[in-house]
Amino acid sequence: TLQVAMAFALMSSLYGDFMRAVGASIRVFDLLDKKPEVYCENGERLVDFDGCIEYKNVDFTYPSRPETQVVKNVNLTVEPGQMVALVGPSGGGKSTLVNLLERFYDPDSGSIYLGGVNLKDLDPKWFRQCMSMVSQEPTLFACSIKDNIAYGKNATLDEIIAVAKEANAHEFISTFEDGYDTLVGERGVRLSGGQKQRVAIARALIMDPKILLLDEATSALDAESEHLVQEAIDRAMKGRTIIVIAHRLSTVRDASKVVVIDKGQIVEVGTHDELLCANGVYKKLVLRQLTAGNIVEKLINDDNGN
Ligand code: ADP
Ligand code: MG
Repeated sequence: TLQVAMAFALMSSLYGDFMRAVGASIRVFDLLDKKPEVYCENGERLVDFDGCIEYKNVDFTYPSRPETQVVKNVNLTVEPGQMVALVGPSGGGKSTLVNLLERFYDPDSGSIYLGGVNLKDLDPKWFRQCMSMVSQEPTLFACSIKDNIAYGKNATLDEIIAVAKEANAHEFISTFEDGYDTLVGERGVRLSGGQKQRVAIARALIMDPKILLLDEATSALDAESEHLVQEAIDRAMKGRTIIVIAHRLSTVRDASKVVVIDKGQIVEVGTHDELLCANGVYKKLVLRQLTAGNIVEKLINDDNGN
């Protein structure tokens, strides 16, 4: 049933409250009505996939909200090994672009390509193994930490410990009496946001994906956790193609390109420095965040400290 639950959760991972639903079977059945629009079918598996991602003329409207087009003519190429940072106002469509890449939905028109092949022609099971998502509120299952990291993959305990160390999770896991067998979720230990994220990073590492999808936390983690999470993410990013929904100034500075998304459209593209010089939307966005005194300001202070 764990495998079933996980496969199901994978399909349902759009729905943030899945974890709470795991413990309540009635609510699990509620989710059956919310399955992704796209079903698995056979398709191609790429040999030597390089990690290249292309969005070409992508338009998208959520079926449940036909009156609002959420993605409008998006063209975006992420070269192998690049880190592309998506920024812009809340509700602009950043998460939707990532959801489309995971093929929870198909574009209404236009296409997304991996390694030059249309996502629709690829085996979903294969391409989902090529990408791991580390979100702000990672989904953990009501099972052991070990199984949460292995995520249905046959991994040895040694392999699990190795990735947990990489993800800065080994230390806190070791403090639990039952170690890697500790249960999490409703009937298990409660992990902090930062600890959950580190478990999610370990899970991503065990998949060894070509593509890493990150949604940086907007809410502040405690300072120690923040540092440990960031260190783990930095390690996990090495050698991968990355799309990050960015909230940290240090991330946008390091990005190969920053893509500003507003009302479903790409309104600016460039490096952080180029966009600041361009004196446009991006600069306004950075300044507004600074004057709002929110997370970016905190991060500038952090950066000065480094
Ligand atoms: P961002 O990540 O930039 O904050 P989102 O991609 O989450 O933006 O949302 C873009 C728009 O799509 C918003 O108007 C949001 O309300 C809407 N939206 C997001 N998810 C869904 C969904 N599952 N069904 C209907 N509308 C959605
Ligand atoms: Mg979002």
